[in-house]
Amino acid sequence: MNSEQLLARLIAFETTSTRSNLELIDFVRNLLDDHRIESQLIYNDDKTCANLYATIGPDDRGGIMLSGHTDVVPTAGQEWHSDPYRLSADDSLLFGRGSCDMKGFIASVLARLPQMAAAELKTPIHLAFSYDEEIGCVGARRLVESMAGFEVKPRLGLVGEPTGMNMVLGHKGKVAYRVTVCGLSCHSAYITSGVNAVEYAADLIAFIRNMNQHVMQQLSDDSYSVPYTTFHVGNISGGTALNIVPRQCEFEFEIRNLPQQELDDLVHQIKHYARAKLLPDMRSRHPDSDIKFDEISYYPGLHTDPASAVIAYTRAINPLDCIGDNVSFGTEAGLFDGIGIDCLVCGPGSIEQAHKPDEYISREQLGHCDDMIENLVHRCRDTAEFG
Ligand SMILES: [Zn+2]
Repeated sequence: MNSEQLLARLIAFETTSTRSNLELIDFVRNLLDDHRIESQLIYNDDKTCANLYATIGPDDRGGIMLSGHTDVVPTAGQEWHSDPYRLSADDSLLFGRGSCDMKGFIASVLARLPQMAAAELKTPIHLAFSYDEEIGCVGARRLVESMAGFEVKPRLGLVGEPTGMNMVLGHKGKVAYRVTVCGLSCHSAYITSGVNAVEYAADLIAFIRNMNQHVMQQLSDDSYSVPYTTFHVGNISGGTALNIVPRQCEFEFEIRNLPQQELDDLVHQIKHYARAKLLPDMRSRHPDSDIKFDEISYYPGLHTDPASAVIAYTRAINPLDCIGDNVSFGTEAGLFDGIGIDCLVCGPGSIEQAHKPDEYISREQLGHCDDMIENLVHRCRDTAEFG
């Protein structure tokens, strides 16, 4: 099967995040089996989704990892002109959910399996296909945990998110939290007997807002369209009636950090303010008062060293030798980078078409990616690297 035929097969698996991706994974696993390539699956707790990891070629040296997520965003509420889970095509474009984000890249990789298997590679190619990327890199986190224990890890990684085949070296990280503030309710005529959860939540939100001002001045990076780390509170709810001191208030906030700025430290400052400043005050009036933080999602940013070998390497195999701007969307690359795999983001199609109705990838882009993977196979066949 060529990449277009494979893309048609992949799109037909409705792998919306949180739904099972096992049928798609089985399909890929069978393709690998046909070429006697072993693979391992790393499941979620419910065993409804799995990451797939496979090594082709020698297992005693680092090599190159090709990484992609198998899940797609939902089509609910979107108006499509064709069935999103059936590939449709015109002269130049291939339509379907996931065509550019990012089953096109996976299809290109799978189309070269016969070559990879036949080539007696001197440098290994690793495949890392994840689940639930779109809801906060959930699957890749588990994959990375298990890869951290591997005796030999990939040395370089290409994450094939849609960048128009440009090499992207940076994106911001993100963390999101739900905060629940619990106080004590009472009649609003006797506010001194209660602990007003809404007001303490507002105090914490004001602290987050001030931090944003402060952090903006600390560090900026003009290669991002918003050139500094940002904080944002997206929703809030609390209280029941004006004449009742509210017992509970919930809000959600996120931080999108420049990768050069330590995310844990920023989160720590917020938690510290809540615990060291607000809570003692609340508890002095009601000992069961509490402020809880629940992490909703997290992925680190990517900041590829301009001197990293992954850039020269990708340059050598990519038919389009072009460094792209840093991007606003997140990827799994920062997670892999965190366990010592030098990564960049480079894949076919445009992020402009991702997540939208009538998502498409151009045949030209898919062809460029086919060429890049072919060049990679040749290089791994001819050269023993990363020993
Ligand atoms: Zn994606």
